[in-house]
Amino acid sequence: PANAMSTAPRPDNRRLALFPLPFQGHINPMLQLANILHTKGFTITIIHTDFNSPKQSNYPQFTFKSISDGTSETKNMKSNLNLDTTNSLVNFMNKTYIDPFRDCLVKLQEEEPIACLISDALWHFTHKVADALHLPRIVLRTSSMSCVLVYAVLSEKRDAINDEENTFPDISPITKQDVVKILNDNLKEGKLDLISSMIQNTKSSSGVIWNTFKELEGPAYSAITQNFGVPSFTIGPFHKYFPASSSSLLEQDRNIITWLDLQPVRSVVYVSFGSIAQMGEAEFTNMASGLAKSNQRFLWVVRPGSVSGSEWLQSLPEGFLDEVGERGCIVKWAPQQEILAHPAIGVFWTHNGWNSTLESICEGVPMICSPCSYDQPINARYVTDFWKVGVMLDNATEEEIGKAMKRVIVEEEGSEMRERSKLLKEKVNLSLEEGGSAYKSLENLVNYILSL
Ligand code: UDP
Repeated sequence: PANAMSTAPRPDNRRLALFPLPFQGHINPMLQLANILHTKGFTITIIHTDFNSPKQSNYPQFTFKSISDGTSETKNMKSNLNLDTTNSLVNFMNKTYIDPFRDCLVKLQEEEPIACLISDALWHFTHKVADALHLPRIVLRTSSMSCVLVYAVLSEKRDAINDEENTFPDISPITKQDVVKILNDNLKEGKLDLISSMIQNTKSSSGVIWNTFKELEGPAYSAITQNFGVPSFTIGPFHKYFPASSSSLLEQDRNIITWLDLQPVRSVVYVSFGSIAQMGEAEFTNMASGLAKSNQRFLWVVRPGSVSGSEWLQSLPEGFLDEVGERGCIVKWAPQQEILAHPAIGVFWTHNGWNSTLESICEGVPMICSPCSYDQPINARYVTDFWKVGVMLDNATEEEIGKAMKRVIVEEEGSEMRERSKLLKEKVNLSLEEGGSAYKSLENLVNYILSL
C-alpha cells in the first residue's frame, strides 16, 4: 500500500454501500476504492449485479449483496458483451435495476444505517433512488477527468457534431476523427443519451471521486473543479494502494512471469486490448503478421472470444507459432500490473482503457495506442499529444506495426518518451506521499463522508 494509507483507521465504522458497474474496467477501481475506504475505518457493503459478480472469497472484510433484474432481455446482451453492445446494455440496466436496487437499499437501511452510497457514475438512475431515500450519493467516475470534460462539450453541442465543418477547438487536442471514434456513428444517439445522463447525474451528486491525480490532468482538473459545482476528490491512481488482481473476473496466467524473467531489459512489447474490445478476423491476422515480421519480442493477451467468429487462436496465420518461436508468448489473460512493472517490458501496445493507461503511466512504460471507442480515443490522444509518452497506430499495415515498435523500443524518440514517462511516474509517487495532492484529497474525502 502507498504512503497515503499510513494513517490509523478511524474507529467509527460507518457503513458505506458501493455499487460497481459490472464490467472489469469498472469493478477494479470500485473494489480498490472499497479497500482504500475500508483501511480508513469504514464498513463496506458491495451491492453487485448477478452477472460479472466479484469474487467474494477475495474480500472476506466486505459484505456482498447480489441483485437481479430478472429480465431475459438483458441475458443475451450480457453473454455477448462487446463494445457495440455495452452502451445499450448500460442504458437498459439503468431502467431494469431501479426496483431491485431500491429494494436492496431499503433492506440494508433497515439492518443498519448507511452513511453514504458510492455508485459508478454510469449508474445514473441511482440519483433518483438515493434522493427518495434521503441517502447522500457520491459517484465514482472511472475515466480520466479530461474524458468527462470532452463528454460534457459533446453533449452540450450535440447538434454541432453532425456538422462536417465543426472542429471542436475547445476540446483540443481531441480531433474531429477522435470524435467520430468516440461516438461511433451507428451508436451515436444512444451514447450521447448515456453521456448526458451520466454528466447531469454526476453534477447533481454530493461529490465525485476520480481515479486520477491533479498533476496529471491540470487543465481538466481546473475546469471540472470550477464548473461542476460539486466537490471533486482526485485520490488516484487507485492501483497504487491496492492491485487489481483480486478483482480480476478471469484467471490471470502467472506462468508468464518466468518467461519474462528470461528476456532482456526493455525488450518486450506487451499487447493487450482489455476486457471488452473485440476485433475482426482480418484485423487479428494483420496484428499477428505485424508481430511476427517485427522481429521484436512480445507478450500478447488474446482474451478468449475477443476475435469475432473464433474461440481463441483459431484465426492465427498458419505457421505463426513456429515463425515466432521463443520470441513471443500468447496468454488468455495476464497479471497486467505486474507485467507492466517488469523490467523486461519496453512498450505497451494498448487500446487505452483508462485503467490500462494509468497502469502504464505509473510504471513509466511508453505506449503504442490503438483505441477503439468510448473514452479510449481521448486517452490515446492525451498519451500521444499531451503527455507525449506514446505513438498512435490506427488501421496499420504489417510494416507500420513493426515500425511503431522500433520507434518506441529502439529509437531516440522512444528514450525521450521513456524519460517523460519516468517524470510522470515520479509525479504520481509524490502525489501519494504525505502532503501530496492525492494524499490530501483522500483525507478530505474521509472527512467529507464523515460530515454528511
Ligand atoms: N487486465 C488484466 N489482465 C489482462 C488485461 C487487462 O488484469 O490480461 C486488467 C487491467 O490491469 C485493467 C483492466 O483489466 O485494470 C482493464 O481495464 P481498462 O480500463 O484498461 O479497459 P477495459 O477492459 O475497461 O476496456
